[in-house]
Amino acid sequence: MSAPGDRQRPPSVDALARSLAASGLPHPILVDIARGAIDADDVESATGRAEAFRRTLLTPVVNATGVLLHTNLGRAPLRHQQAATAQTVEFDLATGTRGSRQRAVGQLLARLCGAEAAMVVNNNAAAVLLVLAALAEGRDVPVSRGESVEIGGSFRVPDVMEQSGARLVDVGTTNRTRLDDYRRALDKPGVDAAIVLKVHPSNYRVEGFVEETTVRELATLAVPVVADIGSGLIDSNCPWLPGPPPPWLAGEPAALQTLGDGAALVTFSGDKLFGGPQAGIIAGRADLVERCQRHPLARALRPGGLVLAALQETALTYLDKRAVTDIAFWAMVAAPLAALRERAEALAAAVAESHPSAGATAMESLPGAGSAPGITMPSYGVTIDGDLLASLRRHDPAVIARSRDDRTMLDLRSVAPSDDAVVVDALTSASPVS
Ligand SMILES: *Cc1c(COP(=O)(O)O)cnc(C)c1O
Repeated sequence: MSAPGDRQRPPSVDALARSLAASGLPHPILVDIARGAIDADDVESATGRAEAFRRTLLTPVVNATGVLLHTNLGRAPLRHQQAATAQTVEFDLATGTRGSRQRAVGQLLARLCGAEAAMVVNNNAAAVLLVLAALAEGRDVPVSRGESVEIGGSFRVPDVMEQSGARLVDVGTTNRTRLDDYRRALDKPGVDAAIVLKVHPSNYRVEGFVEETTVRELATLAVPVVADIGSGLIDSNCPWLPGPPPPWLAGEPAALQTLGDGAALVTFSGDKLFGGPQAGIIAGRADLVERCQRHPLARALRPGGLVLAALQETALTYLDKRAVTDIAFWAMVAAPLAALRERAEALAAAVAESHPSAGATAMESLPGAGSAPGITMPSYGVTIDGDLLASLRRHDPAVIARSRDDRTMLDLRSVAPSDDAVVVDALTSASPVS
């Protein structure tokens, strides 16, 4: 045992920080890390601490989970590039004066949805909040008990309603709500309904003795119908796909058809089935969209130029009928099973030396983000004995997979074909961790 006096003096914080420069982290961060390691009397841990910090930053990963819109992985994958230049976010080139932030994208989204007008806010939760505040503050809003739902942990219809200043009126029962239930709610003495809200219960399904009232029926009521369709399917016919709409989409409400059925407004997310950036879209009657735009909350919920530009690009892609190749989500959906199988076989063969158990396997992908709950689409991927998840996450870039019964499963429908080589590389160096 050595006496304390014999111990080597620890390096200076600055010297240790500089020795970590290869991590690529900025010097002030490395100083914090170096100080932490020295204070813990564990200089050796500094490199590991720097690496651990680097891995807390936003970083691109390969999504091999088979969940195409993975909320933890940013939902719809999006390619968007923008130059560092001024753009006409709120400028009218025709007049040279201030223009509307909502005009450029609003007109394209309206055209896509078959709506008179459309506007954009930060996300769909904000869209619902703004619609309720602008159209129903201090008034009543009937909602079916079967649609008073929680979506994604923090979007709860009764809570959003409360924050908006509108009053929720429960209608019908959890499993069955008929048009007559709405009529009775509207006719109740003292009820001052501004709108009826219909919410797509995106992330769950009730089966069995179930009845809901359609938008077409609700549109016969005396107040406007607002439909939160959530997922952002634009047209249930999916004209941008080469074939007929995939069967897993059958239960998803679409903007075009919901407005066609008589909804006064629809709201939906930009980063679910729409396949664009995080945004919330409000589309429908021009007078109602206008009231939303004029409400003071609209300023607090407005999107930045980066999101508007990405959303404009996505909308143009649909209108140009390029969605199946240029919107990553729809490219994944449209990938033929035979092509996925071929990739899976090639991938399994490429890693056979390090993982003799690797094999191409039929799998089921999920749309994700609460769309089409309980419904899957056929896929192909690779399974390998042992749980390689932690090891795959340590690869750079990390590969996110699933495991079941001590087997690792990598679904290729959610992996871009150009990333297959990354998966091979990650697997080759991966080993099970206990
Ligand atoms: C996803 C979803 C929301 C929340 O949308 P965000 O864009 O995540 O804010 C609200 N309503 C429905 C029906 C949804 O599916």
